[in-house]
Amino acid sequence: MTVLITGGAGFIGSNFVYYMLEKYPSYKLLCLDALTYAGNLETLEEALKSPAFTFIKGDISDREAVYEIFESHKPDLVVNFAAESHVDRSISDPGIFLKTNITGTGVLLDACLKYGTARFHQVSTDEVYGDLPLDRPDLLFSETTAINTSSPYSAAKASGDLLALAYHRTYGLPITISRCSNNYGPYHFPEKLIPLMITNALKDKPLPVYGNGENVRDWLYVKDHCSAIDMIISKGIIGEIYNIGGHNEYKNIDVVKIILKTLNKPESLIKYVTDRAGHDLRYAIDPKKINKLGWQPTVSFETGIIKTIDWYVNNENWWGRILSGEYRRND
Ligand code: NAD
Repeated sequence: MTVLITGGAGFIGSNFVYYMLEKYPSYKLLCLDALTYAGNLETLEEALKSPAFTFIKGDISDREAVYEIFESHKPDLVVNFAAESHVDRSISDPGIFLKTNITGTGVLLDACLKYGTARFHQVSTDEVYGDLPLDRPDLLFSETTAINTSSPYSAAKASGDLLALAYHRTYGLPITISRCSNNYGPYHFPEKLIPLMITNALKDKPLPVYGNGENVRDWLYVKDHCSAIDMIISKGIIGEIYNIGGHNEYKNIDVVKIILKTLNKPESLIKYVTDRAGHDLRYAIDPKKINKLGWQPTVSFETGIIKTIDWYVNNENWWGRILSGEYRRND
C-alpha cells in the first residue's frame, strides 16, 4: 500500500505521518509538500529516518510535477492536507488560497483519475458551513448544513470539496471528505490561537485576543483527527462527507485564560485587539455520522490542552527556530 500525504510538513499532516508510520509500518508513505512558510521539514526529522517514508518537495498545483509523482510511485491512496490554512492571511492575500486550495485540489483529482488511484480523501474544515449564533447552543453543523463561507480561506476549501464531489458524481472517482473542527496539539504553527497564546505567554509578551474574545470554537486534539481520517478511509462510504468533532466548545477568552493559569502567568498579559473582518461567531460539530462508523475522540480538552502546553514548554527549540526564521534555512 502506497499512501501519498500532501501537506505532510504542516501541523495536521505531520501528525498524520507519525500516526500512519506507527499504525501501518508496512505501508510506503510519500509526503508531497511545497514547504511554504507553514511547512517545516524539521517536524519530519524522525519520519525521515524511516525507510518507509519519502519526502518530495513540490507544489500540488504543479500538474507536471504531480503527474510525475503518480507515474513513478502509483499511490493507492491520496490524503490531501496541503492547503493555505490561515484565515487572516486569506483576508490580506486571497490569491494563493485559490491556487493551492482549489487548483491544487483539482490537479490531484485529475492525477487520481488519470492514474486510476483507488482512493482520494479530502481533508476539509467545518468553516465551510460558516458560523452559528452564540445564543443558540442547540444548533450544530451536520453534513447537510448548507455551505455558507465567510472568509476567502473557507470559500477556497469549500470549492475544493465541491470539486471532489463533482469528480465522484461525474467520473465515479472514489473520494471521501472530512470536515473537522479546530485542531490543537504538537507542531501547530505559532500564528494560530493556541500556540500563539502559549508561546507569547512563555515569553511574557501580550496575548492578542480578537474583539471581546466571546467567539466559540469546538476543539479537537490533533491525534483524534488523525484516527478519524483513518476510520473514514477504512470504513467510510465512497462519495460521502463526514464531520469530525468531539463536543469541546470553548470561548476563545476562556482558552486564553486556561493557558495563562496553567503557565502561572497573569491575565494582565491579555490585550484585546480590533476584531477580525467577518469573524465567525461559533463553530460546533455534530459528529453523529462518524460516531456511527465507530469513531470517538479519546482526548478531552482538559487533558489535551495540558499535554499541548507541556509540549510547547518542552519543545522551545522547535518553535523558537520558527519565530527566529531559522527553520527555513535548509529548505
Ligand atoms: P498548515 O498550514 O499547518 O499546513 C499546510 C501544509 O501544506 C504546509 O506544510 C504547507 O507547506 C503545505 N502546502 C501549502 N501549499 C502547498 C502546495 N501548493 N503544495 C504542497 N504543499 C503545500 O495546515 P494544517 O493546520 O495542518 O491544516 C491541514 C489541512 O487540514 C488543511 O487542508 C486545513 O484546511 C484542514 N483543517 C485544519 C484545521 C485546523 O484546525 N488546523 C481544522 C480543520 C481542517
